[in-house]
Amino acid sequence: MIKPIFLACAVSFFIFSSKASAETRLLGGFAKIDITPSKPVTLSGYANRSDLSTGIHDPLSARVSVFQASDDKLVLISTDVIGFYDGTSDVFRAAIMEKFNLGPHQLFLSAIHTHAAPSITLNEERGHPNNIEYTSSLQQKLISAIDRALSQMQLIKMGVGRGSSPVGVNRREVYYDEAGNPRLWIGRNPYGVQDKEVTVMKITSAEDRLKAVLWEYATHSTCLGWQNFTVSGDVHGLAEQFIESYLGDGVLAPAFAGASGDIDPWYRVLPGFETKNGWMPEPVLLGTLLGEEVVHVLRKIDSTSADGPVKSIFETIELPGKPSGELRTTLEQARVPLNITVARVGEVAFVGLGAEVLSEIGLAIKAASPFANTIIITHCNGTAGYTPPQHLYVEGGYEIESSPFASTAAEHLVKRVVKLLHDL
Ligand SMILES: [Zn+2]
Repeated sequence: MIKPIFLACAVSFFIFSSKASAETRLLGGFAKIDITPSKPVTLSGYANRSDLSTGIHDPLSARVSVFQASDDKLVLISTDVIGFYDGTSDVFRAAIMEKFNLGPHQLFLSAIHTHAAPSITLNEERGHPNNIEYTSSLQQKLISAIDRALSQMQLIKMGVGRGSSPVGVNRREVYYDEAGNPRLWIGRNPYGVQDKEVTVMKITSAEDRLKAVLWEYATHSTCLGWQNFTVSGDVHGLAEQFIESYLGDGVLAPAFAGASGDIDPWYRVLPGFETKNGWMPEPVLLGTLLGEEVVHVLRKIDSTSADGPVKSIFETIELPGKPSGELRTTLEQARVPLNITVARVGEVAFVGLGAEVLSEIGLAIKAASPFANTIIITHCNGTAGYTPPQHLYVEGGYEIESSPFASTAAEHLVKRVVKLLHDL
């Protein structure tokens, strides 16, 4: 339930109010660029892994989708990395916005959150030189992919469908210690709250030729875990690769990670890609299963629309931070900023959240959204940290302990997002 509380305040607010009418024809441009590291790098997501990567299991890519109606433009980037941490989100966004003359509301810079990709950093004190070199080149690669997508704008049609996948599962598992006390750890809790929905956006040319399949599913991409030292897109990345090779013909399949702060793959933290004795490696299995569902949903989308509008709003809200001494945290701030980007392309809404929100927050936003189809994109335009719903603060656990937010933050966030969706 969302209570009307007015502590949250907007520190910055941008809206692109469109004169475009519903009849405005939609244009789209799509491009993919390889971002596989060419040198060994440190991999992100687990504190213990300081050694360099030992090889490449599967390639990493960035996929750019540009939508336009009238003069209103939106750039959506899906990147096969963990997220733009260490201040890189602001740096990348500023460079992209300047280069293409975009406002902050026109850019969704997101990551699929694979934990088998290079740490993204420009910090010479903390980052390995190979990672800093990688990060600098990544920025240039994203810019060239956007350039290419923009040069290929054409009339498009789009349709939406929804399916379901068991690939992810709530990870907040209760166990009992020797004294019989209940404890929480990151395991598997099939009875926990979860959003299994797979949302699929089909994009065709005006002549009905398939161009791109944008899709969203809420899970961590952490099948491989902390013992893995090979580069991989993990579950989301492997699903993207499956869909693209299955559909062929240059079709792109950019993935977006939904509200998955407390969702892990059903099989998680496996050391590698074991293939002996005919074994299908679990990350490949789960990626294929998820990709199959995207294709399954895609096949059933039979109605498409050629109309916009394209509209978007960007806002940084300041949410209440965790009080000093309350639940273990390394960060104690009275206010923690979180970037929200909302957009609509025709009758589909996108909600970009610069944080790692837990599943109930995504479900609450989708349920309250005035749009029939709302795609939640986390790890987008910022990295504010875990954002759990209030009632989980009683239980505690990893996501709550490492969150910078006070228990009331989620209420403010959901309320504000829903308001911004109405403003579209
Ligand atoms: Zn995470």
